[in-house]
Amino acid sequence: MRVANKNLMRAMNRDNVLRTVRLQGDISRKEIAAQTGLAQSTVTDITAALINEGLIFEKAAPGKHTGRPPILLALNPDGTFVAGAYISSGKISVVVINLEARVMGSHALALDETITTPDEIANRVAETVRTCCIRHGFIPEDISGLGLGIPGLVNSDEGMIHFHPGFSKGFDWTNVPFKDLVEKKTGFQTFIENSSNTLAIYEHWFGAAQGVDNFLVITLEHGIGLGLYVNGALVRGWQGIAGEFGHVRGDSREATCRCGMKGCLEAMASPHAILKEAQKAARTGHWQPPNNHQITLEDVINAAENGEKVLQEIFTSAGTILGQRIADLTRILDPETIIITGKSNLAKDMLFAPLAQAMRTCNSKIFRTTPKLVISPWQEENYARGAGVLVLQKLHQNCAI
Ligand SMILES: [Zn+2]
Repeated sequence: MRVANKNLMRAMNRDNVLRTVRLQGDISRKEIAAQTGLAQSTVTDITAALINEGLIFEKAAPGKHTGRPPILLALNPDGTFVAGAYISSGKISVVVINLEARVMGSHALALDETITTPDEIANRVAETVRTCCIRHGFIPEDISGLGLGIPGLVNSDEGMIHFHPGFSKGFDWTNVPFKDLVEKKTGFQTFIENSSNTLAIYEHWFGAAQGVDNFLVITLEHGIGLGLYVNGALVRGWQGIAGEFGHVRGDSREATCRCGMKGCLEAMASPHAILKEAQKAARTGHWQPPNNHQITLEDVINAAENGEKVLQEIFTSAGTILGQRIADLTRILDPETIIITGKSNLAKDMLFAPLAQAMRTCNSKIFRTTPKLVISPWQEENYARGAGVLVLQKLHQNCAI
């Protein structure tokens, strides 16, 4: 067997053993071998290394036993810590998490809109990570690495950003080697990934998609994002930019999208698009908002909930288009579960009832069941937690850590 194949096999076996211990809790070596299909000797070698690194530990099985009690293995959740950061347009949010993705400390830094160059942003990331560690009592040696979740077009293999929706007005974010930049400034081994993907990774490891191999995570934020798993693996596409669901066609070519095309889904159905439609209704006298100058999404949701018909129709229209396009995705990918999260969740049934209705309308009996729809509470922190899981993934495989 070639060395590369051998190393890959070793990484997969280690990942398999550590995942089994993490998911099963207290478990014997024999049971690990049975569940993973690995030879007992392989399990013994791998678990010895993991004990040595402090990631798992031995404990005696509880209860009465004749002779010595059997030895079980368990995850040491605080065996190491990793940092994760979510870099949105106006804010950098950092968390330090343990092996169970529990948040041990967090810190956020608001970004001035004049700060747009990669060097400036990387400096702010380093500053925010440093502050988070100091405030919560971590020294650099405690942290095994840093993961970054970034909206826009990110190639994780190359460590490059090709487009960032928040910063691109002030600087040309094309071919930016952001991973290397942050690595130099923080001293931490760094991994980068599109933030919809970090959310999907989080859901797969610790959230609503644990044990689910085919699922979609749709994020309704300023734009519309998609993280997708097919047969247990995250799908990135050949350029690393798969999942740009916000830029598939809506159902008309009227609305101009920030990507420059007309009629994109996110130009018609994202929270930002809903807000713009509501602002247009206010401008044209179809809705009299309490504060005409600073209308927020929350204002729009409140007014719609209180019976403002013109706003309710905006949500119905957005939900219907979303449901139709999600149904298209369902036909192509056949997911078991679809998780929807983001700011729009505040609109609840005003958005999701027409969405579910449109999905049902686009389904035929021959396609059997529709996927399970999970409306997940909006927790922005999970982007950063998922970014931290990028480091946990590498730790599981022990690739270059
Ligand atoms: Zn677009």
